[in-house]
Amino acid sequence: MNTRIFERRYLFTGTLALKTGLHIGSGWAVGTPSDSPIVRTPDDKPFIPGSSFKGAFRSTVEKLTPATGLKSCRLMAGQGCPGAQGEEQQAFNKKREKKKWSGEALLAQLEEKLCHTCKLFGSPYRASRIYFSDLLPPDEDDLASRMVQIRDGVAIDRDSEKAVDRLKYDYEVVAPAQTFQLQIFLEDPSPTDLALTSLGLVEFISGLAYLGGKRSRGLGNCQIQKPAMYCLDLATGNETERAERLCAYLLKKTPAEKMAPVEDVSGFLERQIKTLPIFNGENHAKATGE
Ligand SMILES: [Zn+2]
Repeated sequence: MNTRIFERRYLFTGTLALKTGLHIGSGWAVGTPSDSPIVRTPDDKPFIPGSSFKGAFRSTVEKLTPATGLKSCRLMAGQGCPGAQGEEQQAFNKKREKKKWSGEALLAQLEEKLCHTCKLFGSPYRASRIYFSDLLPPDEDDLASRMVQIRDGVAIDRDSEKAVDRLKYDYEVVAPAQTFQLQIFLEDPSPTDLALTSLGLVEFISGLAYLGGKRSRGLGNCQIQKPAMYCLDLATGNETERAERLCAYLLKKTPAEKMAPVEDVSGFLERQIKTLPIFNGENHAKATGE
């Protein structure tokens, strides 16, 4: 169904440093000493599932998107986007069946109807254009498994706002200062996809973004450090140049050998953000297409 050709790939790497403790629950407390353990790798090191980071990154971008003159349904029904579960999705599915949309016709409809964040992060109709690897502690970090603390919580009665007797529980957190390796891929992004991704990256680089559970207790504040960016471009240049780039991409080892490094990352992100409608005097109401 997806007729796009692979032309451009961006890789963004960095170190995600915790500024506060982090709790991403594993949802599986059997056989562990804590009531609410965190997720761990098979060799007992804490890690951040790519899907958890994607969720936090998506909601960070979704919060900012309306202010930039673009549309985001924030995955809530009633915003006119069939990417969110609800009436619009049901209506879209009915119409799709009735009109027998497929291939190009379906893509054209999705291009028109999906909000900008559903186009970037994915919807039931079209895969995401952005991918997040699982975030692991650095390879040389042998102490990571010891960077887990147990904190006490008390259950609070919602009506009286008093602690409920004997309803104490504990939960694990990854200690502040633990770092994780970050890798984000963007596949054939539109200029809007690139600008919205840059928006999220800038929030995380500024240390203003949050991740994981128990945020009301101050957990989950994190920062992207040492940001680096690489680009594989198979769209421009002559055939020999494109073949050379593809060859290096397939056969070399490190990101810097495989793809062209972006020299000035913050300048690059700033240029993408400046293309957003709000900075170009474009009408908010008209800013639906790309
Ligand atoms: Zn949407």
